[in-house]
Amino acid sequence: MLLANAKIVDVVSGEIGSHDAVRISSDGKIAEIGKSTTLSRGGDETTIDLDGRYLFPGLISCHTHLSVVFPFSLTDPDEDPAITAFRAAARAHEALHSGITTLRSVHEQNRVDLALRTAAQAGWFQGPRIFGAGRALSTPEGHGQGSACSYAKDFDGFYKAAIGELDAGADHVKIFITGGLARAGERPEDPEMTDDEIRGVVKAAQERNTYVVAHAGESVAIQQALRLGVRSFEHGYVMDQETVDAMAAKDVFYSPTLCVTRSESWMRAKGFEEASIQNCLAVSDRHLASAKLAIKAGIRMTNGTDYPPGDHVDGIPAALHELFLMHEAGLNTVKSLQSITSVAAELINQSENLGQINEGFFGDFVAMRGNPLSDPRNLSEIDFVMQSGHVIENTL
Ligand SMILES: [Zn+2]
Repeated sequence: MLLANAKIVDVVSGEIGSHDAVRISSDGKIAEIGKSTTLSRGGDETTIDLDGRYLFPGLISCHTHLSVVFPFSLTDPDEDPAITAFRAAARAHEALHSGITTLRSVHEQNRVDLALRTAAQAGWFQGPRIFGAGRALSTPEGHGQGSACSYAKDFDGFYKAAIGELDAGADHVKIFITGGLARAGERPEDPEMTDDEIRGVVKAAQERNTYVVAHAGESVAIQQALRLGVRSFEHGYVMDQETVDAMAAKDVFYSPTLCVTRSESWMRAKGFEEASIQNCLAVSDRHLASAKLAIKAGIRMTNGTDYPPGDHVDGIPAALHELFLMHEAGLNTVKSLQSITSVAAELINQSENLGQINEGFFGDFVAMRGNPLSDPRNLSEIDFVMQSGHVIENTL
């Protein structure tokens, strides 16, 4: 398979490469990058002429829940896993066709992320490649209450719960270190885990050479988790200067999920409870201010939506909505593009395989007419999606 006449975007340097063609081998990886005239010579392979489009790495979404039920209160903890799978598969399919060729899930009912990954590997289903947490771990009264999580207490309980998800095939471990915005009376300011409980999870992750990702509402709990070895922070609704400086010093990752507190009409359309909407709107300004502090502090920023990333918010996929919000919040253009490609790949420990257009990397691409380096909004015009050398979407 040859992709010819492309402007190849290097998201690391923020430049357009001097070559214009990519050959993808039968194993779905990039075999060669060169000139269209040279690579096409003598070959009888399938060639797709991109007609001068910008070729960009497949998008990597870093915080989602494919199985989520809207409104959250309708979640049935005893749901038949087959129903969970159909719901999640529909979201995964939509994400892939929006250009999200890889996603990291951070809590799924019935560990449906791990099931979808197995189904995709068997060829029964086409979706983004999945790096999954299985179920998140929560204290019984914590943020995960009612969401079909794995519930635990104390060091041993959390250690065993983490090992349980990892044994089931999870790639990383998700915890809730504070409250959130989902229910009336819940506050992102309230810490939910003891030092010992976080230590139990970090120990399990380290034993399996992986990392812990934390739903993290505010500064005190974030500093606690930083001290105890958590590597990936989500939301950060209320963060101060000292906290973002500490995050930058530890070189952790941060997905602000700005769209969570800035999508009122979308929430209403999905039937969210008024209390949940008001919780989100009440913290919206502080959330944006926290993200701005994080951007200024130079923290590695990644793209997370909380919502299914291919679901449309204000007419565009949630993942792009989030990218544009981060860009507007002051993340420069190249870093905004990296948040959904190369930096996202670093977060999931795939920087040698995903997130860039390099020889030996997976043949995951999107393409568009406008240059994303001049304006990231050009990504909303994606008209070509390829994953592992398979054409997913092609309206050239
Ligand atoms: Zn979430």
